Amino acid sequence: MRDWLQREPIVIVSGRGAVLRDAHGREYLDANSSIWTNLHGHRHPKLNAALRRQLTKIAHSSALGLANEPASLLAAELVRVANPELYVSRFTFHDRPSGEAEDVKRNLVRVFFSDDGSTALEVALKLAYEFARRTGRSRAPKFLALDGAYHGDTVGAVSLGHIDLFHKAYAGLLFKSDKVMAPYCYRCPFNRASPERADARDYRQCNWECVSKVERKFAAQTKRGNAYAAMVVEPLIQGAAGMIPQPRGWLQRVAEIVRAHRAQLIADEVMTGFGRTGAGDHGPRTTDHGTLFACHQEGVQPDFLCLAKGLTGGTLPMAATLTTEEVFGAFLGEYEEFKTFFHGHSFTGNQLGAAAALASFEILRSPASILARTRLERVLREELKSLWALPNVGDIRQVGLVAGVELVKDWRTRERFDLRERAGLRVCEAMAKRGVLTRPIGSVVVLMPPYCTTSAQARRMVNALREAVDEVLGRRARR
Ligand code: PMP
Repeated sequence: MRDWLQREPIVIVSGRGAVLRDAHGREYLDANSSIWTNLHGHRHPKLNAALRRQLTKIAHSSALGLANEPASLLAAELVRVANPELYVSRFTFHDRPSGEAEDVKRNLVRVFFSDDGSTALEVALKLAYEFARRTGRSRAPKFLALDGAYHGDTVGAVSLGHIDLFHKAYAGLLFKSDKVMAPYCYRCPFNRASPERADARDYRQCNWECVSKVERKFAAQTKRGNAYAAMVVEPLIQGAAGMIPQPRGWLQRVAEIVRAHRAQLIADEVMTGFGRTGAGDHGPRTTDHGTLFACHQEGVQPDFLCLAKGLTGGTLPMAATLTTEEVFGAFLGEYEEFKTFFHGHSFTGNQLGAAAALASFEILRSPASILARTRLERVLREELKSLWALPNVGDIRQVGLVAGVELVKDWRTRERFDLRERAGLRVCEAMAKRGVLTRPIGSVVVLMPPYCTTSAQARRMVNALREAVDEVLGRRARR
């Protein structure tokens, strides 16, 4: 905070595409998509037009006891994209033959709107808690999360989080959630791959010990007579933990364990949603969208899908928590039973946000956007390879259009920088001098460009990172 007070901040006044402009007229590339929110670039004409159109009708009216047009259309669209199968068959769950009842129940057909990623998680948490109690699964529902988990800054979301630096101070305020080992192959004690082969990228050589730990945790909790109500995960890649990808197959295995113990799976796709993790090369695909959600890349359908950040293309704060008919049903009753879900924010179902979100989906499914995403993912992958030559680059992790570069004292020893050395921060400051804005997570520098980023702009982002690492951490012997 003291550092912040001593410096003149970069004051952003406008933006276009992947470019931000500050009050001095300096231009920067938005290399973390304005903290992971922006999808299609700033001032996108289609998003702006949708917002203007909506403004001629109404900006906002309460959704408490009322409905509105854009939010209703958005709910239908979310159900469509979150259920690839539903979309293809155009079935509603009511039409399904009884033999498919299980599948039907797992379709995400109910949508609850809120304001941001944290509230999307609060909603899932409260619904899962009450669902477990009302269905008799548990009288004191417990939750399991991953080591390094980050699910937002409100108290419920923080209770699910396991990053000491952010969360420990509030321990007295929180309810207790259990944590289990998360895959972090680069620093995994079970990974027998030789450290020298880190840049071979195929570094998982283990017996899925991290999955066994999840299995054991579930088994022990079930044995205690109070099976977990739900497990919450960021699918495919943990963001705030340091951009840590899960090896292929991890999510599927973990989802099977969750199912086997009759717990629910909460997928936090606040960061990973809306194509951020790429189109994926396996798992079910919708015909026109590719795979928009990380879960679907592993063929996993969660019981709760939490969305925010990119929902409106990054224009306005809005979130959605999708869930199943089964969960919805637990909140139906006679008036005097008061079974309703007592949770509603003032700006729930905001019309402006919903109008932007609908326009964002149109852009997302356009062939031009799909092509641009595929190309950008490839260019980023190619460009990032050049960083392996730097002695301070320990690991380069990329899933789709998310990349994290872990800086270390020496790539051979993988020794971490002490946080006080501010290695990540100083590198990001040196990048800003070169016209590229991003934020580090400790010593991990994040590159997460908007989908409209051109190949030349992506190259500039990686070049700035390379030069900044050289400048800040020294030009020592290369590999
Ligand atoms: N979940 C994840 C995975 C996130 O990355 C974040 C924000 N970085 C959140 C939840 C919280 O979202 P918000 O900041 O919109 O509350």
